Amino acid sequence: MRLHLDAEKCQGHNRCYALAPELFDVDDYGQAVLLVEGDLPTELQEKARLVAANCPEFAIKVLED
Ligand code: SF4
Repeated sequence: MRLHLDAEKCQGHNRCYALAPELFDVDDYGQAVLLVEGDLPTELQEKARLVAANCPEFAIKVLED
């Protein structure tokens, strides 16, 4: 499983960072930054689904293998 962040859609609510600081950071403009590349470890996959479901702009997608 991988995560994809569409920076064009992100409006900087920072909900992703609040829910999963292991997966997201925030840049100086308040926009989300994805911290992980490639396959997610098993222990982060549930969180990945949680943040994708909670992004109000639908900017986060879970890509299942
Ligand atoms: S929750 Fe979505 S819109 Fe908000 S900062 Fe994260 S990616 Fe951007």
